[in-house]
Amino acid sequence: MLRLMLPPLPPTPPHHHQQQQQEMQLPTKELMPAQRNCLQPAVIYQATVTRKRHQPTETYIGLTANDFKTRYSNHMSSFRHAKNRNSTELSKHVWTLKENNINYSIAWRILSSHLPYNSSSKRCNLCLKEKFLIICRPELSTLNKRNELVSSCRHRNKALLRNN
Ligand SMILES: [Zn+2]
Repeated sequence: MLRLMLPPLPPTPPHHHQQQQQEMQLPTKELMPAQRNCLQPAVIYQATVTRKRHQPTETYIGLTANDFKTRYSNHMSSFRHAKNRNSTELSKHVWTLKENNINYSIAWRILSSHLPYNSSSKRCNLCLKEKFLIICRPELSTLNKRNELVSSCRHRNKALLRNN
């Protein structure tokens, strides 16, 4: 059984610009359950997969320049359609559980929001923050492969194409 666990909508989601200042630092509160709108764009999210019987957990960190709701739908689709099973480390893990008839649940939360690459900042805080978390908080990303750290920013190309 899969269940989306999201907190109630916050009154006013914080704006990106306020968050730019604290990039690369990780205040403890950012790791608290999300108090952000799941339609807010450019977020880093985390999934925790728990096996029903023995309760061991695996964790996965992802990012999206779009809103979380859309990314979540794509993840769910990859758990249903075998042709997409290799799309993420998370879907690979889910398919392994399914094939071994292991019951599981997945809890999702949004960790933080950051500006993706833009021509004025010339850096992608979204990708930087994800890499930072995978390095510094491995317990939040047990399923993420360390080779994801060398993957290049796909938002940069998009931004450059837009400006030409
Ligand atoms: Zn990026």
